[in-house]
Amino acid sequence: MSHGIDAHTGLLGLLGEPVEHSFSPLFMNLALEKLSLNYRYLAFSVRPADLNAALAGLRALGMRGATVTIPHKQAIIPLLDRIEGEARSIGAVNCIDRRGGELVGTNTDHLGFLKPLADRGFSVEGIRALVLGCGGAARAVVFSLVREKCAGLLLANRRPDRARELIAWSQRELGFQEISYIGPGEKVTQALVDRCSLVVNATPVGMFPRTGNCPVPNAVVFHPHQLIYDLIYNPVETRLLALARSRGSTVINGLEMLVTQGLYALAAWFPQRKERIFSLQHAIISDTRRRLFSEKRPE
Ligand code: NAP
Repeated sequence: MSHGIDAHTGLLGLLGEPVEHSFSPLFMNLALEKLSLNYRYLAFSVRPADLNAALAGLRALGMRGATVTIPHKQAIIPLLDRIEGEARSIGAVNCIDRRGGELVGTNTDHLGFLKPLADRGFSVEGIRALVLGCGGAARAVVFSLVREKCAGLLLANRRPDRARELIAWSQRELGFQEISYIGPGEKVTQALVDRCSLVVNATPVGMFPRTGNCPVPNAVVFHPHQLIYDLIYNPVETRLLALARSRGSTVINGLEMLVTQGLYALAAWFPQRKERIFSLQHAIISDTRRRLFSEKRPE
């Protein structure tokens, strides 16, 4: 049953800047509707200087919680009452859970990344993975893969300083040493790809509108036993995923991670509905995909 807005309607939101192009309001409200929860989820464009005031507003208005996106994921940490372990380890908060009088920072990005792998029966334990990119998303990916006991990680990044920084963080914070990077000027070669069962694209290369670009050389051949995971969610099939699918590899598009991390936020806010939320996961992902990519709307 869909609720109209009334005096009981609760508020949830997204804090970021910019937020105008975010897909989150679409799928979060779709999920709230399917769950018959009398809440609405709105996108709030919050300047960094106003972040503290936005949190005071969240408290004062009795909001149940909010998700957090760029550029606030790190800056919000000292402004919250408590940070849960995993968000602390990753060094980024993407979900605020108001528990009584406290604003608790959590991270659901890593859960959103891992669930699509688990849903396909793909075990990370003991594998080697190649991660393209070393930004914020790559950090959540590295955390997830290390937590799931991967055997080795290879990073590839444009700027070697960022790759070195991520490696130092992994060694220091996660105690994971089996991590190296492709040095400056080196290419992602066939031999490197062949050594990995999982390849994750955590760069925007191939994202709309530059959909002709690919983060690996076109000559790279993937294999059916490999899983290629592109964090990009627009377009539905990037050039990288098309290349991988044509070779029989399993492919995952970033929309699944995006929606799933949002569903984990909903599960944090409405723990009694957790089972129902995840029973609707695939329906919410496919409805979101259909609404975004089959209807004529600006991308
Ligand atoms: P970020 O912190 O800005 O990092 C971007 C990374 O991509 C950096 O490693 C950067 O390399 C690299 N990069 C950027 N432009 C490049 C180019 N033209 N060629 C080669 N490398 C390039 O961004 P982020 O938050 O990690 O996001 C990365 C991607 O993941 C984006 O496409 C984003 O939409 C996607 N994402 C998806 C989800 C999801 O839920 N599906 C969640 C988060 C992010 P340098 O270090 O050399 O600059």
